[in-house]
Amino acid sequence: KAGKNQYSIYDNTSSENVSKRLDIENNMRQAVASEIQEFLVYYQPVVDAVTKKCTSCEALVRWDSKSLGFMGPSDFVPLAEYLGLITSIGDYVLEEACNQCRYWNEHGYPDFHVNVNLSVVQLLQKDVVKNIEKILLKTGVNPKNINLEITESFAINDMNRVLEIIKGLKKLGPRIALDDFGTGYSSLNYIKQLPLDLIKVDKTFIDDILEDEYAQAFVRLIVELSKTIGTKLVVEGVEHQEQYELLRGLGVHYIQGFYFGKPAAAKDFEQKYLASWKPEQ
Ligand code: C2E
Ligand code: CA
Ligand code: CA
Ligand code: CA
Repeated sequence: KAGKNQYSIYDNTSSENVSKRLDIENNMRQAVASEIQEFLVYYQPVVDAVTKKCTSCEALVRWDSKSLGFMGPSDFVPLAEYLGLITSIGDYVLEEACNQCRYWNEHGYPDFHVNVNLSVVQLLQKDVVKNIEKILLKTGVNPKNINLEITESFAINDMNRVLEIIKGLKKLGPRIALDDFGTGYSSLNYIKQLPLDLIKVDKTFIDDILEDEYAQAFVRLIVELSKTIGTKLVVEGVEHQEQYELLRGLGVHYIQGFYFGKPAAAKDFEQKYLASWKPEQ
């Protein structure tokens, strides 16, 4: 239902898998209800392709469970979506990311942006716009410095509703990014209809971009398209210098990937990617 985030691993009905799933489920319910915060927010740098400066980052959730150990989102986000717990987790991530963004904005990086992922499940909640407004107000962040990432699995829902929600969110100040572009149900039609500010090209196109002419042509096409409609292009999953150079040559605006940095806790992120430069005043 949520596109890329597949539930299929939970379809396995062997009793071992069922009990493991129940174990994760029970632990997750406890972690969401608990005062003790087991969910952590990591930040991955997004750099300007030309200047190589880190101008923004993406907030990515982790779960450091006391009984299950440290987990990345692929280990628990699909289940959290299935159980409806992703809204609470997502609210927490947004609040953390907004507080962090405000802190960086007030400590030398006034134009720094933080990207936050919104699950399709979260976006289809009745009061999603009001709820997000509350979090933005509570944290006191400049909402213009928050980018909200939506996926195509959201865009395929009733277009009127999708448009209403996106317009409602944009009115609050944040920019809207279309994530994982090129996977799923990708249609150029969405790009035309939605008021997007950023398009994020999925890693699958970048993995073999050096050899694959189709992947190169795809990126070239999206660069042209994004110029025409006035969005900026982010490319994800850049791991090698040659990939970076090729993409910069193609006119991509922003780069995200292990070549520039892996997701890290806020303090590490700050030391590694922010402390080394000050934006021009
Ligand atoms: P995403 O939104 O596409 O996030 C980018 C993912 O690609 C991150 O994985 C990041 O670590 C990884 N990545 C970035 N550059 C590279 C690279 O050069 N090489 C490789 N191998 N990987 C790279 P992560 O943190 O494991 O997150 C996976 C997915 O989980 C995210 O994909 C997103 O769909 C979901 N997710 C993460 N945090 C949240 C959240 O707070 N809320 C929701 N709803 N989903 C989240
Ligand atoms: Ca994302
Ligand atoms: Ca993505
Ligand atoms: Ca992805």
